[in-house]
Amino acid sequence: MAKNKNAFINLNNAREEDQVKIMQKIADSDHCPFCSANLRLYHKQPILHEGQYWLVTTNQWPYKHTKHHLLIIYRQHATKLADLETVAGSELFAIIKELEQKYAFEGGGLALRFGDTDFSAGTVNHLHVQLIIPDAMKKDFEPVRVKLGLQWEKRKN
Ligand SMILES: [Zn+2]
Repeated sequence: MAKNKNAFINLNNAREEDQVKIMQKIADSDHCPFCSANLRLYHKQPILHEGQYWLVTTNQWPYKHTKHHLLIIYRQHATKLADLETVAGSELFAIIKELEQKYAFEGGGLALRFGDTDFSAGTVNHLHVQLIIPDAMKKDFEPVRVKLGLQWEKRKN
């Protein structure tokens, strides 16, 4: 059995039961699930856009109370902000502007976690931007919360 946390995965941050199962498989394989060679092995969502630096897809495990939960994944393996090409920021802005128009987003937020997954609370340690549009017009709506950092008692090796 692989460790809960390795260079590519932090199972302690996984939320859904089937997500944990798939993440366990990835941890056992000891490779990065967001690198292009492996993405299709686990990620079953459509790729909506492929740029030079980023690809856009939908989150396989969207947060509760989201209307849209998109992942904008950096195409090269990267974990730290310093790994990003500065010009990739320009493409990212072009992509999010286009998505806003295309899907007529009323409003929402972007989250970019980076670095050590005990600090970022990321499950997959490969830089990606989460574009989150809350389903705020639904009657049972509750605010969407993005977590950063993992509490001590949940850190298992
Ligand atoms: Zn990767």
